[in-house]
Amino acid sequence: MKIAVIGTGYVGLPTGTGLAELGNQVVCIDKDEEKIAALQAGKLTIFEDGLEELFQRNIRNGRLKFTTSTKEGVAGADVVLIAVGTPPDPVSKEADLRYIYAAAAELAPELTGYTVIATKSTVPVGTGDEVENIIRRQNPLAEFDVVSLPEFLREGFAVHDFFAPDRIVIGADSEKATAVLREMYGPFAGKTQILFVRRRSAETIKYASNAFLAMKIHYINEMADFCEKAGADIFEVAKGMGLDQRIGSRFLNPGPGYGGSCFPKDTNAMACMGRKYGAPLTLIETAISGNDLRKAQMAERILRQVGDNEKAKIAVWGLAFKNGTDDVRESPALQIVGQMLKHGARLRVYDPKAMDNARKILGDAVEYASSEIDAAQGADVVAILTEWESFADVDLTALKAVMRQPRIVDLRNMLKSRDPERSGFGYQCIGKA
Ligand code: NAD
Repeated sequence: MKIAVIGTGYVGLPTGTGLAELGNQVVCIDKDEEKIAALQAGKLTIFEDGLEELFQRNIRNGRLKFTTSTKEGVAGADVVLIAVGTPPDPVSKEADLRYIYAAAAELAPELTGYTVIATKSTVPVGTGDEVENIIRRQNPLAEFDVVSLPEFLREGFAVHDFFAPDRIVIGADSEKATAVLREMYGPFAGKTQILFVRRRSAETIKYASNAFLAMKIHYINEMADFCEKAGADIFEVAKGMGLDQRIGSRFLNPGPGYGGSCFPKDTNAMACMGRKYGAPLTLIETAISGNDLRKAQMAERILRQVGDNEKAKIAVWGLAFKNGTDDVRESPALQIVGQMLKHGARLRVYDPKAMDNARKILGDAVEYASSEIDAAQGADVVAILTEWESFADVDLTALKAVMRQPRIVDLRNMLKSRDPERSGFGYQCIGKA
């Protein structure tokens, strides 16, 4: 099939590459000229495990192309995927749909023959109706259907999740579009659940899922706070809870709060939709405010270790919003760093993948280190903010040797099983007194 992907970011690029690997002719379109120039030159613009090899192979075999021209990509396409950003409006926190609507207006005049326009971006319920109206107004004679194809991939696992998704949700109100998408997802038939639903249900499934996961994280974080006060251990509690199959063991890891480019914006957008439709979503509202507060509480927890010592140095391990990605959007780590800077803290930071992206935000407000141990040189406390595997394997003897005070605040419980107290560290993790 001929497929165009509009928006070549964390969703569009792995999706386009995966579809090319499945044998389709894919053109990825982006407005960002620098991005497209890099991709055309064979340079990946994001870090995703396993993407490099697929990307290079499909460029070589001519199935994966990049352009800034919507016309070039969309003409003759069977399916056009829209994967542009839907960031939160800074004031109302609703999903800002300007990029979606712009993409719809740009693609409309370029349609040739029957085309399925599929929204991969996370969009509020009813957006498909508006996309349809925009295209119809711009090109009244176009033959097309608009469907919702919510994306569930996890950053850091995008390639894995493309080829082995838990489910594929197709929100199509037309038989013709359903047939085209059945063909596109043919390679997944019999291997994964493919759910055909109405378009508005598909749009809702994405938000309802993300909000549920965000609430699960907030729940276990509150439970961790409780355990600290009540003398229980959240590890044991989470394990005991997770063995109940109705609850499940995933997303029961306490930490500094949820972040990233999806959960904060999607919970806010869902809460806005609830208010708009007069169906209050109070659990989601509570998770949002509690999660916001948690970053400040975590910063205080770290700062308490150094008290009023103005000369104290804090080593920060981890800046990405989670492991496996260079993405720092809405990263709890960066928000905690921001809180600590507000209090005048002196920070030396390290992340295995996200240094460049963090530097764009933090500028010269912090010192940058080249490794975990380098960050900890002369530090009075190490704060672990992202769950990179390498942090769990750190050489504790070498670490202790370079620190001024051997103290660790482990907001990801990475070192808990190694019992750093036995190696002479002051050690605080999450969810255990
Ligand atoms: P992103 O910011 O990484 O990429 C979006 C890209 O779209 C940018 O490169 C931008 O230049 C491009 N763009 C914007 N308008 C354009 C236009 N008119 N024509 C061509 N290109 C245009 O965003 P992302 O993280 O890939 O997210 C995209 C959507 O997918 C969002 O709605 C997001 O909520 C959703 N989503 C993201 C994830 C994730 O893990 N990042 C997972 C599931 C769903």
